[in-house]
Amino acid sequence: MRQRDLKSFRKLLTRQLDKLLMEAERTKDQVKEAEEPSSDPMDQASTVLDMDFLLRLRDRERKLMVKIKGALERIENGTFGICEECGEKISEKRLRARPVATLCIDCKHEQEVSEGRGRHSEPRKSPTLWLHM
Ligand SMILES: [Zn+2]
Repeated sequence: MRQRDLKSFRKLLTRQLDKLLMEAERTKDQVKEAEEPSSDPMDQASTVLDMDFLLRLRDRERKLMVKIKGALERIENGTFGICEECGEKISEKRLRARPVATLCIDCKHEQEVSEGRGRHSEPRKSPTLWLHM
């Protein structure tokens, strides 16, 4: 990949990371506020819900941050834009849409198919039950 493109991806990823860090800070403040004790029991119930929501959100943000940091590392060590699975170049169109991608579209598709298969591989209820009835 050209230096110029790498630079633009680095800028894009850094900006995304900054935004996430800022949001994480804000979420932290919100969690702190939610932790303030309240005397109203109805209020407390909604606080628990909010906390749950905020923590989940933070988890998603954290995962994305890890991905972005990984992508920035790949830019530094020169493996950015190369598929982890097959070693082929990831198309620039795909990277523009998803700079944190580590798989080319073919490998990604294959992963999704095999994951889908995994989800549906639960054993069916045994039909032999009927034989004993
Ligand atoms: Zn691949």
